[in-house]
Amino acid sequence: MRIDLHTHSSVSDGTDTPTQLVRKAAEAGVDVLGLTDHDTFDGLREARLAAESAGVLVLPGIEMSCQLDGASVHLLGYGCDPHFEALLDELARVRVGRSGRLPEMLAKLAGLGMPLTETEIAEQVGASPSLGRPHVADAMAAKGYVRDRQEAFDRYLYEGGPAYANRYSCDLRRGVELIRRAGGVPVIAHPWGRGRDRELTPAMLSELTMEYRLEGVEVDHPDHDADTRQRLRALASRLGLLTLGSSDHHGLGKTNNPLACETTDPDVYDELVRRVRARGGRL
Ligand code: AMP
Ligand code: FE
Ligand code: FE
Ligand code: ZN
Repeated sequence: MRIDLHTHSSVSDGTDTPTQLVRKAAEAGVDVLGLTDHDTFDGLREARLAAESAGVLVLPGIEMSCQLDGASVHLLGYGCDPHFEALLDELARVRVGRSGRLPEMLAKLAGLGMPLTETEIAEQVGASPSLGRPHVADAMAAKGYVRDRQEAFDRYLYEGGPAYANRYSCDLRRGVELIRRAGGVPVIAHPWGRGRDRELTPAMLSELTMEYRLEGVEVDHPDHDADTRQRLRALASRLGLLTLGSSDHHGLGKTNNPLACETTDPDVYDELVRRVRARGGRL
């Protein structure tokens, strides 16, 4: 069994449509694919439809933009009811924040000598309801300001970078609660990647687990080195958290994350599914 539970389609900042993503997963020998677009469930229908003929099982998921003391934390939710209103309201608020910060980013880019119009951004966003920095990066690359997404992030768009603008995201504790109330299983994505260990300390992960019933952490992720994985696995074992492994595939948007480069243990997946069923979530 090859199980990859964290991937993105063009419904957020991936470059494959949900159909293309499912077909590629089948070609890569993936049996279970988690589609976890940023802050939207919109890709799930198409992915499901494509999965029927491709022989892949799609686990419905989401990657919710959250924050802890102002630092960005990504929260995965598996098996949420995609019609649960309180969660949908919160996701809508996050998406408004995503679009709302664009003028500030465009002003900063113009100030840096890289003018871009909203139309040029819209061309990259396409039909995605979830505008993200990767779309801005793609527009910069299309204009020849940078080579690719990575250079745009490394020089301008990183958190606190010269063209960065903050945006609204959901309080992490509330995000965990919302996902559980929607019948889903909350799992923190890449908790110790890109310096996140400063905010997500062992004490904080313990509090989130004991008091808010966080249920898992992503351990095997391209942003975690071997030492990080070992420390995180030990902590997860102490706290009784599920440990997941996934590619965080973004199509051509992140060339270091091919499908199934990291995978989740079948026993962990079975337990995840069992919990979603037990609390009436949607599979
Ligand atoms: P946003 O959703 O606008 O906050 O942008 C965050 C997204 O940009 C993440 O989901 C990744 O896909 C991508 N990203 C964030 N940081 C980097 C980075 N340093 N290099 C490349 N991509 C990144
Ligand atoms: Fe992303
Ligand atoms: Fe993420
Ligand atoms: Zn992701």
